Amino acid sequence: MTVAHDLQPEEKKQAIVVPGPFDIERIRADFPTLHEKVHGDKTVVYLDNAATSQKPRIVIDTLNHYYTHDNSNVHRGVHSLSQRATFAYERARGKVKNFLGAESEKEIIFTRGTTEAINIVAQSYGRTFLREGDEILISEMEHHANIVPWQMVRNQTGAKLRVIPMNDRGELLMEDFYKLLTKRTKIVSFVHVSNALGTINPAKEIIDAAHGVGAVVLVDGAQAVPHTRVDVRELDADFYTFSAHKVLGPTGIGALYGKRDLLERTPPWQGGGDMIDRVTFEETTYNDLPHKFEAGTPHIAGAIGLGAAIDYMHRIGFENVEQQEANLLLYGTERLSEIEGLRIYGTAADKAGVLSFNVDGIHPHDLGSIMDMEGIATRVGHHCAQPVMQHFGIPATCRASLAFYNNTEDMDLFVQALYKAIRMLK
Ligand code: PMP
Repeated sequence: MTVAHDLQPEEKKQAIVVPGPFDIERIRADFPTLHEKVHGDKTVVYLDNAATSQKPRIVIDTLNHYYTHDNSNVHRGVHSLSQRATFAYERARGKVKNFLGAESEKEIIFTRGTTEAINIVAQSYGRTFLREGDEILISEMEHHANIVPWQMVRNQTGAKLRVIPMNDRGELLMEDFYKLLTKRTKIVSFVHVSNALGTINPAKEIIDAAHGVGAVVLVDGAQAVPHTRVDVRELDADFYTFSAHKVLGPTGIGALYGKRDLLERTPPWQGGGDMIDRVTFEETTYNDLPHKFEAGTPHIAGAIGLGAAIDYMHRIGFENVEQQEANLLLYGTERLSEIEGLRIYGTAADKAGVLSFNVDGIHPHDLGSIMDMEGIATRVGHHCAQPVMQHFGIPATCRASLAFYNNTEDMDLFVQALYKAIRMLK
């Protein structure tokens, strides 16, 4: 039984805020870590948003409020605190449903994040329905989280894994995609926005074509939802997943959307408490959706924190997010293009706020370390996309990834630090 419970104080504060013009300084004031100092007096310039986003105060306060006032386990308690926790947890599911444009809360499964969600689909749907000779189609620009789970299920079922190649701009070769797509293709799983290159893939076209051969489609939306409005019904995605921590929310929580009929047909992944209806030693019947896929005590605070993050994103507005990031991407690309010997990896016509680059003769780790001394947080490495690095014949890149709370000054400080690092290393 769930009893309606008033808005939490932080949410009341939030509910009365009317979205206004995009005021970057006011927005930055909401993010405490953007004002942190490192190496003495250097204010952090946070350009590692593709790894994880920073958190606005409302998300931090919501977690604090939950643990201070409502902490309890969900679904099983008749007492007031449990009802409050259950109400807040399930309300967060409703927010995710609206965020993704899903039809029903039953289609929203809370997971630890994108990685767990892909593993759930591979091991529950994939392992159940794939047969020897069936094909799984992914792309050359996938994150390891969308490669390894498919290799595992391929080894378990005898299915084949095929890969859509990309060109040197980091765009999928759609002609090859159409050639690879056959009646044998049972699952197509691709990244909506690449974390290593920034490429925005033509999701709707891929999904429609995959449906044309009867394949089921999973979209890895980890890098899409922080930057653009996603509507799973408009896309007609069968499965769609993201991680809260990349879109202002806590770590350890994310969501898997699945079309209801698919989820109904798919067996549960993990067994345990909450996912059951009735248990005897002889047999067990399972709970209804979405609980069938949520064994054990979930990350209750995380889900509620994700709800607060989604509310914040709505307040900012995706038009503003996209505009700010597009401006910064253009500015950053122009500034980097002026640097001799610098190559940007990922120059797709349709691209999100990722600047992945190398400078001739300099190891990206050295660039990253020197820039860190100036307070600049970039990421260096293979970005969990080693096949992308293999495509370009490089071990790693330096990556600056943007969020709507970055400003032009961030870009200037980053480029200034980059020049300094190059001078020191050449
Ligand atoms: N896919 C993409 C495109 C990503 O960028 C990431 C995170 N870097 C993941 C999947 C995995 O996300 P998580 O580690 O939150 O499960």
